[in-house]
Amino acid sequence: MEITSSSNTFRFFKRTWAEIYLDRAGRNLEILKKLIDTEHTRIACVIKANAYGHGDVPLMKCFSENGIDFFTVSNLDEALRLRRGGCKDDILILGWTAAEYAAVLSENNIIQTVLSEKYAKELSDAAKDRPVRVHIKLDTGMGRIGLNASDTDKCAEEIVRICSLGGLRTEGAFTHFAAADSLDDDSLAYTEMQKRRFFDAADKAKAMGAPLENIHCLNSAAALLHYDKRSSLARLGIILYGLKPDNALQIPQGIEPVMELKTTVSHIKTLHKGESVSYGRIFTADKDMTVATLPAGYADGYARLLSGKNEVLINGRRAKGIGRICMDQMMVDISGIPDVHEGTEVTLFGRDGEEVITADDLAAIYGTIGYEIICGINQRVPRVYIRDGKITEVHEFI
Ligand SMILES: *Cc1c(COP(=O)(O)O)cnc(C)c1O
Repeated sequence: MEITSSSNTFRFFKRTWAEIYLDRAGRNLEILKKLIDTEHTRIACVIKANAYGHGDVPLMKCFSENGIDFFTVSNLDEALRLRRGGCKDDILILGWTAAEYAAVLSENNIIQTVLSEKYAKELSDAAKDRPVRVHIKLDTGMGRIGLNASDTDKCAEEIVRICSLGGLRTEGAFTHFAAADSLDDDSLAYTEMQKRRFFDAADKAKAMGAPLENIHCLNSAAALLHYDKRSSLARLGIILYGLKPDNALQIPQGIEPVMELKTTVSHIKTLHKGESVSYGRIFTADKDMTVATLPAGYADGYARLLSGKNEVLINGRRAKGIGRICMDQMMVDISGIPDVHEGTEVTLFGRDGEEVITADDLAAIYGTIGYEIICGINQRVPRVYIRDGKITEVHEFI
């Protein structure tokens, strides 16, 4: 396909591609700014994992144009990709970086998470006279990384000891909730307990002189359901991309998915009664039907577990998937859908006329979350960036 925008011509092969609607990302952010008390809480955009599959540098630029000056990623590679992409703002690595890379962290002005007191000492030793900016992670009940905060006095003392280490510039502390996306009594009580531990430990450490300017605990679900103005940052991920932290939750009015996954019809035929389709022959026609083959499959990130349970959108109508989803192809029943021919555009998730299928809908079918779907869109799928209905950029990885 070749599309001409005002100043450029963009080419990509019209097989299977992801459309990334940057204006929706901007609108989602504006809606969230109104829901969060931004006097107290600055929004940090979580753009780890290639911005949840959307493309880290384009999304960084888009959020930056919309006033964001704090980004978080999961690791050093991702942080350096943003720096190379022109990011001048704060970047916090939420996960582990080997202490031997202390110089890379300081040279690139990247903030590193401290996972434990032992790690703090290693990083401090490695950093020597080139201080590394750090935020200390507190494990208040997630059980993943961080200082154990079940005893807040001990935890506060540990924070103070870390703050006194040379080679580190401790600027903040944060925690992560384990069940902020569930509204049952048990989860609500657990999140409250995590919050209590977090702010108790941070307050005690500050009272003992720890210079924690930035203390933060809010992910998307917590920002929506457990907002607390004592959190100086909200680390927003999934909600910016327009999906739900949990399928049982409602998302605020106006928030829209940023990514749509498209493919085309590659082949059309009549499947006669009694004939089967695809590997394992799990589908046999019980009457004559019209079947379209689509050039997309699990190697593009469209899960094989959806076999026999998925639908796609063609000409504003729903078409059911039939037979096993293959690595590169899948088949759908287009009987009764008018005007379908080889080359007709197909929506795997996204909107087509009145019909919508979201990544969250697909996730619900096979028991995962929308996060896994968008993060799993493979590198062979070009990302096509769209703003005001025009293509502004195309990223191909292969
Ligand atoms: C991924 C992540 C987030 C963002 O979570 P969402 O649910 O996508 O908003 C926030 N904080 C930490 C520590 C994370 O790892």
